[in-house]
Amino acid sequence: MNIVLMGLPGAGKGTQAERIVDEFQIPHISTGDMFRSAVKEGTPLGLEAKSYMDKGHLVPDEVVIGIVKERLGKDDCERGFLLDGFPRTVPQAEALDRTLQELNRSIDAVINIDVNRDALLARLTGRRICRECGATYHVIYNPPKMEGKCDKCGGELYQRDDDNEETVATRLDVNINQSKPLLQYYSDKGLLQNINGEQDIDKVFDDIAEVLRGLSQ
Ligand code: AMP
Repeated sequence: MNIVLMGLPGAGKGTQAERIVDEFQIPHISTGDMFRSAVKEGTPLGLEAKSYMDKGHLVPDEVVIGIVKERLGKDDCERGFLLDGFPRTVPQAEALDRTLQELNRSIDAVINIDVNRDALLARLTGRRICRECGATYHVIYNPPKMEGKCDKCGGELYQRDDDNEETVATRLDVNINQSKPLLQYYSDKGLLQNINGEQDIDKVFDDIAEVLRGLSQ
């Protein structure tokens, strides 16, 4: 079960990734997580990645491809893997195809959690955080009992600077433009499976699981 998971910020990719690896017992390979832990450990890779990540830029293809290649060669990937956050560009997708070919393997499915831009904007701009205890709320999906006040400690709720509509819209549009050629690449190969991400979390997972169970039959 060799799977690529795709989804824009706010689509629920993290939640679904956790469920997939739990249910299907395959390793979760998140390049973002790999870079974050390299940064934390202060390795040479971490130092290189940090300079790009801090600016919100992509880490150069050859660096990302190198770490993914090494990771896919490990024993725990023999039964399959869930790639998350990689590939992000068509050259990365082509390099992934070559790497898998060398290992005599190929991608079985690309799962794209599909949520329209307006719904994503609402999800991403609705977040509110308590100034006192850091608890998080969502004005639509997880509202506090009293507007603007934390249920837990009564603290004032605020919106993070980078959760404002303009910043979120820019981040979203950059991601939409980045993912378009990649979705086309996998659609051309007949691997793309669009999953309706505007349903409740359990239903989204059921739809994904149905696709993945179909692969092993
Ligand atoms: P993420 O958690 O997936 O959003 O990744 C966090 C950061 O790590 C990104 O903003 C990039 O700087 C870097 N990164 C993660 N995956 C990739 C990738 N496939 N290609 C390039 N940069 C990446």
